[in-house]
Amino acid sequence: MDVPVKRAQRFICGRRTLVPAALGHTVLELANAGNGYVYTRDDVSISLVCTIEAHPASRIHHGAVLNLRGREAGTLWAQWRDRSDPTTVVEKADCSAGREADNSCSEFKGHPGGHSWELDDPPRIAAEFPLPRRPAP
Ligand SMILES: [Zn+2]
Ligand SMILES: [Zn+2]
Repeated sequence: MDVPVKRAQRFICGRRTLVPAALGHTVLELANAGNGYVYTRDDVSISLVCTIEAHPASRIHHGAVLNLRGREAGTLWAQWRDRSDPTTVVEKADCSAGREADNSCSEFKGHPGGHSWELDDPPRIAAEFPLPRRPAP
């Protein structure tokens, strides 16, 4: 088995948030107003993770909330800041890097930081909402 080449580790932001119900409705309205595909609640990601490269708190978090269908379709991204719920949803084209190698970047076009395959999950995921702690074994 090949051992992957060790490179300088870079991490995604990893900040988490939950999509408020009202924003979930907005997401579905936006998606269904589009290109003829029909989307349901199941298509909406309720629990979001900011997947762009770790960034200063002054920069807005981005979590993919709904993948639009169709060849050239982009993705709906929810945006939020620390200590507040996501209130904005924007449609962004997908980053085209890696597409020809069948290893598409899962970020949006023009995203800051590295492409998704250059980034790892942080060793400790930052929780925006409190998660239940498991007792140590
Ligand atoms: Zn972030
Ligand atoms: Zn990219």
